[in-house]
Amino acid sequence: MVFLFELSQQKSAHNMATDYCKYHPLVSATWHCPACHISVCDDCTHMTGEMENTPNCLLCNQPLTSISHSAAIAPFWQHYTDFMRLAFNPMGILCLLLMVVLPTLAPSGLLLPIAGGAYFVLSVYGWALLQHTATGNLKLPTLQNISQSISKLALEVSVIVALVFVLLGILALKSVVAATVISGLLLVLAPVMLMAVAIDKSMSSLWQHHAWLHIWGAMQLMYVPLAGIAVVLFAVIYAVTNLMADILPVGGLQGLKQGLYGYGLWVMMAVTGYALFQFQKPLHFEVLGKRNKKRVVNRKLDNQAARLEVYLKEGLYDRAAALMKVVAEKQKKNPEIQERYYQLLVFMQDKEQIPYQATSYLEALLETGQHSLALQVLIKLQFLIPDFRPQTPDMCFELAKACAEQKDYPRAVSLLRDMHKDSPHYANLPEAYLLLAKLLYDKMNEKHDALEILEYLVLRFKKHPRHPQIEHFWRQLGGKPKNDFMD
Ligand SMILES: [Zn+2]
Ligand SMILES: [Zn+2]
Repeated sequence: MVFLFELSQQKSAHNMATDYCKYHPLVSATWHCPACHISVCDDCTHMTGEMENTPNCLLCNQPLTSISHSAAIAPFWQHYTDFMRLAFNPMGILCLLLMVVLPTLAPSGLLLPIAGGAYFVLSVYGWALLQHTATGNLKLPTLQNISQSISKLALEVSVIVALVFVLLGILALKSVVAATVISGLLLVLAPVMLMAVAIDKSMSSLWQHHAWLHIWGAMQLMYVPLAGIAVVLFAVIYAVTNLMADILPVGGLQGLKQGLYGYGLWVMMAVTGYALFQFQKPLHFEVLGKRNKKRVVNRKLDNQAARLEVYLKEGLYDRAAALMKVVAEKQKKNPEIQERYYQLLVFMQDKEQIPYQATSYLEALLETGQHSLALQVLIKLQFLIPDFRPQTPDMCFELAKACAEQKDYPRAVSLLRDMHKDSPHYANLPEAYLLLAKLLYDKMNEKHDALEILEYLVLRFKKHPRHPQIEHFWRQLGGKPKNDFMD
């Protein structure tokens, strides 16, 4: 069973492009938890630190891995036509033509410096292509793409490339065999050397074996077609130029060589750049550009709602309650949020927390004028916790008024009774007790209790603006002040 489960997970890992969030089946997943074997969307993650770019799993709190859509990247050998085509933007064509024509016009004494300069320029352009395809972009590069990639590193690489071409050219005049062997060796190593420089953004990586080994470890046998492309390409170019050597004049031959080798260099550099993109993960190559900016989770304010959903769906009610508590405390006047937390506590039968949250919920309802709803909540609540009473006298009074309106007199009385013991300094105590006395007298037929309460009011609130009214009512019920007896 476990095996089957893992197998299905592996299968889904291969179909990254069609992987959806476990909790939002219509949203494609952007993160994967290696511990829980689940894929989730941005909403269903948890940011811990401000600096950290990687969010954590909501369930196990371990860092998630980004589902980059690397599985959807077509391998470089499927794009060979693109790499052959990339050179042919107007700028590229112009550049190649210039390299072909220039030696035919120049005096033969200048051919060597021209060759050096040509390969330098060609390589600067080729490095730009490499940087361009390393972002996964296979569209023709724009002038901006090219100019942006010209850096100190680009110039350094180009000096080396130009030197290699010129020196190999000179060597070929002396020993074709030696030149061929060295060229072959350099071609096999060229992609790995270029990649090492591009990854570390440093010229010193050109000759660092551990950098080469790192790339070999990441690409393994996939490096063979990459080097193969370079070798075949240059072999064809060598054959063609060799064929033309007897026909063309010296200047023309060099023009042809510059054009063809330049083109070969560009194709090789473009493929190498794309290989960096394709193997970005194992290479730890940071892909620049818009398409693959480091993914940062949008820290939405309502992210808590999504997290809550995850907790509830997973049955992690304690965590849901903890989260809800924070949200409820922040939005005290929002009856819906107060209700959700309240309902969750009721569902969890958390009798310790329910009274507190019930008070907050009722408060929110009363403050938004939903008195009858508040009353319904109170009724259900008192069914669950019979001795429940709201914590503030104001709420008791408000609810008692609502009860009286709904003709629920016993409940109104129970809300108001003994209020002077719980909150002796409550400002509206006279009004509340006047209501209590009226309810006791008119509705509950407890005349003795009504009289007792009125007597308490009359004696305690002599300077209250409603004192005459209270006294009048008291006398109506048969209350007699002491000085009356004196008369
Ligand atoms: Zn989700
Ligand atoms: Zn997890």
